[in-house]
Parts: sequence; structure tokens; C-alpha cells
Amino acid sequence: MKLANYIGGKFVAPVSGKYMDNVEPATGSVYGHIPLSEAADIDQAVAAASEAFPAWSNLGLEERSRYLLAIADKIHERLDRLAEAESKDTGKPVTLARTVDIPRASANFRFFATAILHEETEAHQTGNRALNFTLRQPRGVAGCISPWNLPLYLFTWKIAPALATGNTVVGKPSEVTPATAFMLAEICEEVGLPPGVLNIVHGRGAEAGAALVAHPKVPVISFTGGTQTGAAIGSEAAKQFKKVSLELGGKNPTLVFSDADLDRVIPDIVRSAFANQGQICLCGSRILVEASTFDAFRDAFVKATQNLRSGDPSDASTQQGALVSQEHLEKVRGYIALAKEEGGSILCGGNTPEGLPDRVKNGYFLEPTVVSGLDASCRVMQEEIFGPVVTLTPFHSEEEALAIANDVPYGLASSVWTRDLDRAHRVAAKIQSGIVWVNCWMLRDLRTPFGGTKASGVGREGGREALRFFTEPKNVCIQMNPES
Ligand code: NDP
Repeated sequence: MKLANYIGGKFVAPVSGKYMDNVEPATGSVYGHIPLSEAADIDQAVAAASEAFPAWSNLGLEERSRYLLAIADKIHERLDRLAEAESKDTGKPVTLARTVDIPRASANFRFFATAILHEETEAHQTGNRALNFTLRQPRGVAGCISPWNLPLYLFTWKIAPALATGNTVVGKPSEVTPATAFMLAEICEEVGLPPGVLNIVHGRGAEAGAALVAHPKVPVISFTGGTQTGAAIGSEAAKQFKKVSLELGGKNPTLVFSDADLDRVIPDIVRSAFANQGQICLCGSRILVEASTFDAFRDAFVKATQNLRSGDPSDASTQQGALVSQEHLEKVRGYIALAKEEGGSILCGGNTPEGLPDRVKNGYFLEPTVVSGLDASCRVMQEEIFGPVVTLTPFHSEEEALAIANDVPYGLASSVWTRDLDRAHRVAAKIQSGIVWVNCWMLRDLRTPFGGTKASGVGREGGREALRFFTEPKNVCIQMNPES
């Protein structure tokens, strides 16, 4: 299938006429073609979005809300088709796409469609002299750039609040996983979203993405992706004083204390380590376990990991699918080799799973892998791997656990497993991450601020933070008693 850009309400070919292959990670074969857009396509999309901006930003809140709710409904109606497309595009188990990614994409639109109906703004009374209030206005054309791991979910997480607050959007999904963004464009056409309100341009980051970031008529950029790309985007955007939100990589710690009920928590910790083959920015990839319970935890965790079923992602019973690309598989394998060089022991995994069905025997599969015996300062414990590889490390005190947890450049998410409420509060306050889960993982309430600290990002998305990010606050000061 040949995909098209969606610009000004029309499906159009890239200006260059060039396409690249879309590969199914589970089979390694080409199954579609993606527009290779460049600066000229971005120019067209920005022009369409600029033209649509006055009418869209002036539309009543209820009307904007109705459009977004209609999109949410269509995503929900099309759950199965979207889940199948996402699974084929990414290699993730279709069950994961059907139960997490696609429902959450619909929820993103529903949440922001209704949130705008209940927003408040501040007013400050300066004695009896003046009344100040904060007028919040959409910024204009928003550039939304998203990665391949949760393609529709993360794309809509940006687009929905931008549109809800009256901005128009030029979105650039990852070229690696374009299918669901293309289907979203079809949905927008079906619900009659006015032309130019949402434009979707496919292409490589270095060309289409960079052109969007540098475009002078795009004052706001919301980006989710790798830390290095984020640094490049941040410095480019700074030249034009653009408003930027950067959601970047992580090296998230999972802290397991000896009072945790292992039977109860291990299934959740396995999920937090290996969901989507470890390719979720929130996955817990450094598991720190209190020494007194380390052996018992290690044995049970390794057993549960070995029980994960790798297989054809389109099979509803598959728990571990393929990694997203050959290149990414090689990168992750490189870290397994490095773990051995750095003195680690591979407790399980590290190879291609055995017994894969014929259809997927050439896909980019890797067994979920557990490594122990590494020093906390080595590269495997410091760098983001973004695959099914986790490390196990014992600690002897709460202080030591926190020191290891915080001793990385990243600060995205963490999880703490304990039945001691005092400890949960203490550790949550001291851990350097934007999100701390206590006795759970990836439980999300869309009203909460979402995002990382340190090299994991700048700015916060989610709930009110997102509504504010996409609007420019202006203080209006009105004199109250001019005669007195
Ligand atoms: P990348 O940084 O490689 O790419 C992200 C997006 O940016 C893609 O659409 C990419 O396009 C585009 N891009 C690449 N270079 C540029 C550029 N110079 N200018 C503008 N856009 C550019 O990340 P991945 O897609 O590999 O995603 C994995 C990373 O994302 C991991 O580090 C992960 O931790 C992080 N992530 C963070 C999340 C968070 O919420 N903090 C959530 C999910 C993932 P293309 O793919 O076409 O090259």
C-alpha cells in the first residue's frame, strides 16, 4: 500500500515523488511505501494550517469539542483495524495494541475534547485598584513529532490538546511506523474536520522533521523521541524562541524492597520490564532488589520471564512480538554483547526465540533478556537500550537504592515496590524522576502532569499542563476605580 500525506484536507503525493519501503518487523518483508517528504511538503502543510487557523481558533468550544469527540468515536469503532495495522507496522502483539495503544488514542481525544469545556483561568484582584486576568490564546500552528514505539497513542497525545485549544497542527509521525497516522487522516476526513486543521506529513526526521522544527511560522513544537534528537531540536527551536516540549528517553529504575509480596508483584514487574519488547520509554530497565530478597526475586523473575510467549504478533496469545527494525535489533544485541564484556552474566534470553511460526521466522525477534552482576556505572546500566534487556542489581539500604537509582543522566519514570507506606513516601520524594509508581506501573490518569526530568525532557504534557503548553498566557490588567 502506498501512503499519502494529508495536507489541506487532501491526500497528496510528496512533492519529490519519492517513497521509501515500509517493512513489517515480524516478517522482514516490505508491505508498503511511505512518502519521503521534504521541506517543500512541510511548507505546503504549514500554509494550509495557517490558513485554517483563524476559523478553527474562533470556533466555539462546544463545536471544537464535538469534532474531537467524533474522532474519538471513530477510533473506538475502528479498534480492531487500527490494532491490526499498528501490530503489523511495529511488530508489537496485536493484543497489546487492541487493549492499550488504540483505546488510549481514543481516550486522548475524548479527554481533551471534554477538558476544554471545564477549564478555568486565573484572576487576581490588586486591592481595589485593578483586576488582572489571564487570557489564554492558541499559539498558532503547532508542530507535533512522535516516535515509533506507541505510534498512534503518542501522536494523539500531542495532537488532541493542540487542536482542542484552538491551534492547527502539522504532525510528523515516525517514518518507521506511519500506518495508524495515515488511518487517523482518513478518520479526520470522514468526520469532516475542516481542511488544514490537522495536516500529516510523512518522511524522515532529518528532512521533514527538521524542516518542521525550523519553520518560522511554527511557534510551538511538541516532540517525543530520543534524547539526542531532542537536544538537536531544542537548540534549533531556541534560535527562534519557540515554545518546546521534549519528552525523551529513560533508564528507569524499579526498586524492590524485601517486604514486597513477590508472588503478587512479579507479574507487574515483568510487564514493566518487557511490555512492547521493552520499547516503552516508561519500562523499568534497571531492577534494584534488596539484598535479603535478591536470590528469591531473581529466581522467580527469571522463571516468569522465560514463560513469556514470543510469537507471531498477529496471534492474540502472543506476549512478545518483534523489535521494530533490523537496525534496532542489532543495536539491542550490541548491548547484550557489551553486557558480557562488562562482566555481566546472562541469566536468561539473549538469543532468537526458538519455535517461531514459519510466517515470522525472518522477523526481528529477541528473547527477553535478564543480566546480573554489572556495576552500576557501566554503560549497560547507564545508557538507554530500549529493548527487552534488563539488569538485576542488589542493594543493602534505602540510601544505596536511591543512590543507584539516581545515578544516571535520565529521570523519566520509576517504580517502588514495598508494603511500607512511610518508605514509599520517603523514596518517592527523593527519587529523581518525573513519575513515581508505587506498587503499580503505567497506571495513568490523563489529568496528571506527564514527563521527565534531567536528560528525559523539558516541559510537562498531560492534563492542564498540555492545555497550558499550547496556549499563550497574556495578563490583562483593568483599572477598577479610576475615580478614587
Ligand atoms: P527519534 O528521536 O529517533 O525519533 C523521534 C521522531 O523524531 C521521529 O518522528 C523522527 O523521525 C523524528 N526526528 C528524527 N530526527 C529529527 C530531527 N533532526 N528533527 C526533527 N525530527 C526528527 O526516536 P525514536 O523514534 O527512535 O523513538 C525512541 C525514543 O523515543 C527512545 O529514546 C524513547 O525513550 C523515546 N520516547 C520517549 C517517550 C517519553 O514520553 N518521554 C515516549 C516514547 C518514546 P524518523 O523516525 O522519521 O527519523
